[in-house]
Amino acid sequence: MPGHRRPGQRADKPSIAKLKYPPSEACPSCGRPRVACLCDRVEPLSHRLAVVILEHPQETHKWMNSAALAGRLFADCTVRVGLSWRNLEAATGRPWKPSEWAVLVLRGEGADAGPEGGTADAPVTLRSRGGKEAEDAGQLRGIIALDGNWQQAKTLWWRNPWLTKCRTIELHPDLASQRAQVKKSGLSTVEAVGFCLAHLENAPELLRATLAAYRRFVVEPARAAWKRKGDDSKTGSGDSTQAATVTVPPASRRRDRSSNDLPP
Ligand SMILES: [Zn+2]
Repeated sequence: MPGHRRPGQRADKPSIAKLKYPPSEACPSCGRPRVACLCDRVEPLSHRLAVVILEHPQETHKWMNSAALAGRLFADCTVRVGLSWRNLEAATGRPWKPSEWAVLVLRGEGADAGPEGGTADAPVTLRSRGGKEAEDAGQLRGIIALDGNWQQAKTLWWRNPWLTKCRTIELHPDLASQRAQVKKSGLSTVEAVGFCLAHLENAPELLRATLAAYRRFVVEPARAAWKRKGDDSKTGSGDSTQAATVTVPPASRRRDRSSNDLPP
């Protein structure tokens, strides 16, 4: 989930969220830093819905990025790094209809947030393309998460207009992210996916296992690296990047941008 930059916070201020490792230190298999390698260490979790994560290229080699973990933790999860894909099938690798996919979004953040973006909502709200809620999740086959900070997720949204033909899932998390970001409602990508799957599939153990894996494989190694860097006392915990979802633009602005972009 995208967080906001705090007022007055400079874009170039050091932050654990921006901490990167050199590509030469990445495990050639999982892409994570060798000291936090995921290979043969992550037990995949079973779930019903397919998961596709579209990762903004600038998120690679970040200590706090959780997309690689999600790709190993969820048994049916594909991580795609890039800015745009021709259509839904090109992005997901599956010939499913847009109505069978839902994009994770966060209601209540960003300029597009509607007045209804409160915390009293259900943890997970599925909406049809037209924005109608209380949809049955039974016909849903997959979820799509956008991995990047708020601006990057926004970019992914606009550069892939076929996303607007999918359904949306609004998350109203009732937990604080372990990445201690500014907005309480913001979650890392792996947390957002785990939260969503746990609620849609009525499987609370999915979320518990996700949070434990995120702490062990991402948060703790990242904090250790940050400590080694010796900058931790200067920045507080203003982790405002590393997002899973983007606030959905109003339907009026999304309309007509997606024609001809979907397979028949
Ligand atoms: Zn590895």
